[in-house]
Amino acid sequence: MTQAIDSCNALYRLLPAMDSLLKISQVMSFIDKFGKPQVKAELTRMLTAARSLIAKQGTLPAWCTDDAALVRELEQALHHASRHSLSPVINLSGTILHTNLGRSQMCESAISAVTEVMRHPVPLEFDMGAGKRGHRDSRISELVHELTGAEACCVVNNNAAAVLLMLASVAPGKEVIVSRGELVEIGGAFRIPDIMAQAGCKLVEVGCTNRTHLKDYAAAITDNTAAIMKVHTSNYHIAGFTKSVSEAELAGLCRERGIALISDLGSGALTELSRFGLACESMPQQMLSDGVDLVSFSGDKLLGGPQAGLVVGKKALIDKLQSHPLKRALRCDKMVLAALEATLLEYRKPEQLDTVMPIFRKLSRPLTELERLGRLLMQGCEELDTTLGVALEPCQTQVGSGSQPDVLLESVALCFTPSLGLAEDSLISLDRHFKNQNVPLIGRLGAGKLWLDLRGSDDDGELAAALYECISRWQDKRTRQTGAAACEVAA
Ligand SMILES: *Cc1c(COP(=O)(O)O)cnc(C)c1O
Repeated sequence: MTQAIDSCNALYRLLPAMDSLLKISQVMSFIDKFGKPQVKAELTRMLTAARSLIAKQGTLPAWCTDDAALVRELEQALHHASRHSLSPVINLSGTILHTNLGRSQMCESAISAVTEVMRHPVPLEFDMGAGKRGHRDSRISELVHELTGAEACCVVNNNAAAVLLMLASVAPGKEVIVSRGELVEIGGAFRIPDIMAQAGCKLVEVGCTNRTHLKDYAAAITDNTAAIMKVHTSNYHIAGFTKSVSEAELAGLCRERGIALISDLGSGALTELSRFGLACESMPQQMLSDGVDLVSFSGDKLLGGPQAGLVVGKKALIDKLQSHPLKRALRCDKMVLAALEATLLEYRKPEQLDTVMPIFRKLSRPLTELERLGRLLMQGCEELDTTLGVALEPCQTQVGSGSQPDVLLESVALCFTPSLGLAEDSLISLDRHFKNQNVPLIGRLGAGKLWLDLRGSDDDGELAAALYECISRWQDKRTRQTGAAACEVAA
């Protein structure tokens, strides 16, 4: 016993001192690159781990007596600690617009526009000789007018902000009528009754969950009513014995009674989606021509731009939004406005959207092409001779982010099953392994398999490289584990 303690004490004495570690020339170069506090923090962590190894196993880690090993381990730790949290992943989850993966990917013109405004001063709100200060939303407003016929547009942080500002500006302290079938909750605590309360409006519910009639709305209008609001039921679908009232029908009623008709559209597709096999979403331009006064929608759903909320419609009402104190708190910065402008400019050439916009490129990719890609990747996986089960299976892709909840696109997936003879949770560990790569592969678990929906691929070559590396590393890990298990059995 005392002998063991003595030998441990000897090992503790062999631990290098922080001061001497900081004097190693490569460590000094890490200090220049990563900063002294970070280098010290990682060294402290390594020393602590070494102490616990001595206590538990009575051994010293190799790096304590080998500077080259120390430098290798420290460098790896420093790189790991300075990795950006938002580095790219490959989204093969089967949901194209995945809110938790940042929704839409931007077109190249938007990317370069953002880079420019990050690097240089730009006339965001500056008099360029016209004699008055420009307005930050005016260029977007012009483009939206051109594309949808809207008189004007107000741009804010996201669609939740757009709905809040719309209500606060159009109906402060007043009643707003909404159908009970449209009191939606969107993920992340966006609920119509809560937003209504935050905007200082009084929600008046009419009709029933499945059926609301024009006469329900008409009967609810009082002297204190400021608006009727339609909400797109974007993440669910009510089927069966149902009735809702269209915007066109409500427009007549609102005009007659002198109140506003506003609409939270959710995902604002500005182009016909039927050519991708998607059902027709109501488009903002349609709503406006149906007589809606204000329509709000997201910039990063089916529009394919940056996170933003757009309210489009009557100039007199948009002016109210622009001058409301909340607008200052909700306005967009130059990067968002630059990306949005570049995205909207692409809509001048609708026939090119399928190639230019990542979202439409994915939605329009033919099934036969995905199947060919699948067969190719299968072949590659089989050549790697892994113990993983892999198969090509048909699957369905959803658009996501509350766009088109009923519509699914045909696709194919590579389905992985864990290596034979491993623990129960190994499907979870397989999924974790796929997410733990330099380029993480995000799949979906279902029916005892890990599904990688190939419709999510942006660059097939990059996907193949990431996939093969991921599988090889899985194989290495398994080989090491079974090797260790074999040693244990032998001992
Ligand atoms: C998505 C959605 C929202 C929220 O939009 P964000 O841009 O995520 O803030 C609000 N209403 C509807 C109907 C939606 O579909």
